[in-house]
Amino acid sequence: MSKQAGTVHLVGAGPGAPDLLTLRAARLLAQADVVFYDALVHPETLALAKRAEKIAVGKRCGKHSTQQRFINKRLLDAARKYSVVVRLKGGDPMLFGRAQEEIDALHAAGVSCEVVPGITAALAASADLRTSLTRRGVSRNVTFVTPRVGEGEDASDWKKSVCNADTAVMYMAAGQAAIVAAKLIASGMAHDMPVAIVENASLPTMATIATTLGALQSAGERMTHGGPALLMIGRVFKHVKSARSAVTDRDALREVLSA
Ligand code: SAH
Repeated sequence: MSKQAGTVHLVGAGPGAPDLLTLRAARLLAQADVVFYDALVHPETLALAKRAEKIAVGKRCGKHSTQQRFINKRLLDAARKYSVVVRLKGGDPMLFGRAQEEIDALHAAGVSCEVVPGITAALAASADLRTSLTRRGVSRNVTFVTPRVGEGEDASDWKKSVCNADTAVMYMAAGQAAIVAAKLIASGMAHDMPVAIVENASLPTMATIATTLGALQSAGERMTHGGPALLMIGRVFKHVKSARSAVTDRDALREVLSA
């Protein structure tokens, strides 16, 4: 190798709104030679990388390791060619984003790697709902959890984590909301436990469904417009109201509530 390898920066793009980005992330994007970005990154965020080659590596969740290995390899190849390589990930790169696989691959190859945190979807949704995840006297802990298990991975005990949490925020779970609710009820959670489903947190298309675990269990699976969504479970969500922004003109919420 003729020149020193570059650095790969794993950068959090935030939850969606392009102005929920750190200054450090913006500076790195402006300096980047190449940016590998995920499906959920806002075009305005990407546009900050003025001089960079931009490469989409978005995989829909649930797809697996062959693709991840391919991304790892592309990062290594890019670091050999360029000095500032940005791997831009939705929300915070270290939560449910396979960051560790990328860090480990870079480390094994002796390529330097830095991580820039971002605002994770749970915190954007909490802000949108004006609901503290740790409301005094109601919730003294929060768990971030996913029911999704990758191919070949050990089964996860997500139900126990949710049942033991004062507040639980479930990622990659809204598409199977009714099944999740049924399993939690079977594990002993109360039917009247408040649930908020928040789709497109931080974006103008944000929508909220306020419900309970019991109602969710029989609500059917089509809960959202198809945007990324969180299932948020806990007594702190008791006062949340269903809402959708004026700019969304779809009937999904009505369908859900009448289901
Ligand atoms: N690293 C990301 C999470 C990636 S996993 C983060 O820190 O936010 C992808 C899941 O995140 C989606 O299935 C959804 O559950 C959640 N998500 C991402 N963006 C979201 C948004 N704007 N609104 C609601 N949920 C979101």
